[in-house]
Amino acid sequence: MKYPPHHFVKTGHISRCQICNSPKLHLILDLGHQPLCDTLLTKDMLNEPEKTYPLRMMWCEECTCVQIDYCVDGKEVYHLDYPYRSGISKPLADYQKDICLSLIKKYNLNSEDLAIDIGSNDGTLLGGFKREGIRILGVEPTNIAKYANAEGIETVQSFFDIKLSDEIKAKYGKATVITTTNVFAHMQTIGEVITGIYNLLKDDGVFISETHYLLDVIQGGQFDTIYHEHLRTYSLRSLIKLFDQYDFTVTDVERGSRYGGNIRVHITKGKGRPVSPNVLNLLKLEEEAGLDKLETYMQFAQRVQKARLEFMNFLIDTKESGKSIVGKSCPGRASTLLNYYGVDKELIPYLAELSTSLKLGMYLPGKHIPIVNEQIIFKEQPDFIVLMAWHYAEVIMERLKAQGLKSDFVIPLPDLRVVKNSQV
Ligand SMILES: [Zn+2]
Repeated sequence: MKYPPHHFVKTGHISRCQICNSPKLHLILDLGHQPLCDTLLTKDMLNEPEKTYPLRMMWCEECTCVQIDYCVDGKEVYHLDYPYRSGISKPLADYQKDICLSLIKKYNLNSEDLAIDIGSNDGTLLGGFKREGIRILGVEPTNIAKYANAEGIETVQSFFDIKLSDEIKAKYGKATVITTTNVFAHMQTIGEVITGIYNLLKDDGVFISETHYLLDVIQGGQFDTIYHEHLRTYSLRSLIKLFDQYDFTVTDVERGSRYGGNIRVHITKGKGRPVSPNVLNLLKLEEEAGLDKLETYMQFAQRVQKARLEFMNFLIDTKESGKSIVGKSCPGRASTLLNYYGVDKELIPYLAELSTSLKLGMYLPGKHIPIVNEQIIFKEQPDFIVLMAWHYAEVIMERLKAQGLKSDFVIPLPDLRVVKNSQV
C-alpha cells in the first residue's frame, strides 16, 4: 500500500505544506524556540540543560492548513509518561460519552460492530461504546494504555501504522467505525495512519476525526493552541484536500466547543459517497471568514501581539502595586503562552492544578513555574487568578467560587479580561 511521500512528515524543518505539498507557506507568528509543552520537568531535571525547538505558525496559501514548520520526533513528544488523561475532568468525560451515543445512533451500531479508537488514552471514549454493547479496541502508545487495560478497556500499547492495522484485522476483524479525538492533528505518519485506517475499515466503514478547528483558533485569537504536538490546525477545506488524495469521501462535519472550538469530520471509505449539506455550508463559512486570505492571518497576529502587551502590562502593574497573582491549571497551551510572553515564577509563582492531576510536583518547561495542588489558592486567597485553561473559564470560575474562592479572575485571551469575583 502506497501513500504520497509528503504524508510522512520528517523530523526537523518542514519547508512544504504537510497536506498538499505546496511550497507556498507564509509565516504568521514566530513564537520563538520553545520546549515541548507536555514534557513537564521534575525537580532533578531543573539541574540539567533543556531542549527547545522552533515554534512558528505557518499558513498554506493552497489548502489553507495552518501548521508548524518544525517537527519534533513523535517518540520524543509522546514519551511513555506523557501526562494527559482524557477521563480526568468531568466535562471531557461527559463530552466523550456524547460522541459515542451520537455515533451509535448515526451509524446504527450494534454488538456485531467493532469500534476502534486510535490514541485512545485512558479509554474514556471507548467506555461509552462498551456500555452500549459495541465491541471495542483501543490503540495508545503511552503508558496510559495500562490504566485503560486495568479498567477493562482492551488496549494495544503501540503507535498506529499499516503493520499494526494488519495485526488488528487478523485478530479482531474489520471495524465499522474508527475514531480519533485530538490526535489526528498531531501525527507525523499521516499516510501510514490513513492507509492503515483504510485497511482496517469495512467497505462502508467511517473514520471520524475530531480536532481543534482553524476557524475557531483564528476568530478566537487562540494562538496558544499552537505547540509542537499540534503539527497541523485543520480547516475543513484542508481536510477535504487531504482525503482527496485517498479513496475516501468527507461525508459530514459537525462543530463543537471542545478545545475552545473543534471540528468532527466523518470520512467514509470509497469515492462518490453522499455528502451532507453541512460540508458545503461550512466551506462557505470558511470562505466568508477569509480563511483563504493572508490578510485574515495578519490581523490575527496583530491581535495576539496586542493581547500579549496588555497581559504583560497588567501583570507588571499588579506586581508593582503589591497585589498577588497566581495561575490556575497547566494545560499544554499554558506553556506556549507563558514561554512566548516570557513569564516566569517571579511573575506567576505557581500554577494550581486539581488534586487528582498527574502534573502535581512538576515544573512548567522553559519557565520552571511549579505545579501545585489547588488547595493552596483557597488558603492564600490571592488577589488575582489567571485562568490558563481560559477556554473553560466559565465552568472553572463557577466551581472555584462555589468552593469558597474570593479572588478575581484574569482571562488572558482572546483579549485580556478581568472578571470580578462578584460577577461570577
Ligand atoms: Zn497546503
